[in-house]
Amino acid sequence: MSFDIEHIRSQFPVLHQEVYGKPLVYLDNAATTQKPQVVLDAIANYYTKDNSNIHRGAHALADRATQYFEDTRKAVQQFIGAREAEEIIFTKGTTESVNLVASTFGRKFIGKDDEVIISTMEHHSNIVPWQMLCEEKGAHLKVIPITDSGEIIYEEFEKLLSPRTKLVSLVHASNSLGTINPVKQIIQAAHSVGAKVLLDGAQSTSHLEIDVQELDCDFLAFSAHKLYGPTGLGILYGKREVLEEMPPFQGGGEMIKEVTFEKTTYNEIPFKFEAGTPNIADVIGFKAALDFIQQLGKPTIKKYEDELLHYAKTSLGSIKGFIPVGTAPEKVSVLSFNIDQMHPFDVGMMLDSKGVAVRTGHHCTQPLMKRLGLEGTVRASFAVYNTKSEVDILAEGVEKIARIKNK
Ligand code: PMP
Repeated sequence: MSFDIEHIRSQFPVLHQEVYGKPLVYLDNAATTQKPQVVLDAIANYYTKDNSNIHRGAHALADRATQYFEDTRKAVQQFIGAREAEEIIFTKGTTESVNLVASTFGRKFIGKDDEVIISTMEHHSNIVPWQMLCEEKGAHLKVIPITDSGEIIYEEFEKLLSPRTKLVSLVHASNSLGTINPVKQIIQAAHSVGAKVLLDGAQSTSHLEIDVQELDCDFLAFSAHKLYGPTGLGILYGKREVLEEMPPFQGGGEMIKEVTFEKTTYNEIPFKFEAGTPNIADVIGFKAALDFIQQLGKPTIKKYEDELLHYAKTSLGSIKGFIPVGTAPEKVSVLSFNIDQMHPFDVGMMLDSKGVAVRTGHHCTQPLMKRLGLEGTVRASFAVYNTKSEVDILAEGVEKIARIKNK
């Protein structure tokens, strides 16, 4: 399919509005992406025509809903190159996917004096579950340091690895800096000491081609809402042999084979990890989002977003007082910055008044901000529907704001 930006934009109704009398420039895509009409339609269609509970139906609607639900599982399998659809578990989001691994794999396989390795640039959702687990088990959390430009110091990671390392849980692409981590190398090294690896793919899956078999990660966690899909839906990929060894997450309907008051036997994967009625409508809607991405193709998306990022770096880079944060050469389309002598929150407010939506603050990465000696940043993050003229509006706004303090 050829890349027609106007056609792409026309598929996103929310983009076509004004805020404070100015055209909306939505640059908060790392927080959540907007949804194309096909996703909205798929959800509305489901509720209009097919609404039913799944997997236990003895009627036409239940069969249809089950089939659409399972079609998405297969689409996710293909999207990330998993070997089997059963390796795909639906959760509420990246956060719940990480917590699932901490509560099940962690409870069973991580014990006293074992070690979990994370990095300095993790999102809180890939820090706190491990802290909670380590506290409970008497295990230790080790943190890979980073450089000032926001890259993992690989040699330091190697030094942290030991036979006590049970898990390396690492962000694939940083939400605050955009840095793409050298995950393949890290996975190989972790496996050499017998550790499993979880990748937080919340920011990578929408930009980078992902093949979990090629990467050889044991787990991949991500959120549908950052992939042009609905909120309240996440994915956990796990290798079959690892998932099968793990105890269930929550107890309830669907995750059981047989229940008596004396003993319950558990269902097969993935159902063992999907207790209760799942988020059926949003799972069905997510397939439309994956189709949207696949039609454009990840390499096309990445190339276009790289161009936008490069254009933004150049445009904003020449503004007096502009301080980029996170300057790794390999990045997804995230531009974090500060304006000299200004609080990021004030910059964000001023941009908002110009119709430009960015994120400000610590971006749920407080330890990273501490490491960089910052209170926070302003973050502009680009998606496939953004344009160079929107970057111009951002740059113009930043230029005016910077002039207030940096005459
Ligand atoms: N990890 C990263 C890198 C993220 O960017 C986010 C969302 N900001 C999360 C985890 C958590 O995702 P969710 O809130 O969808 O569970």
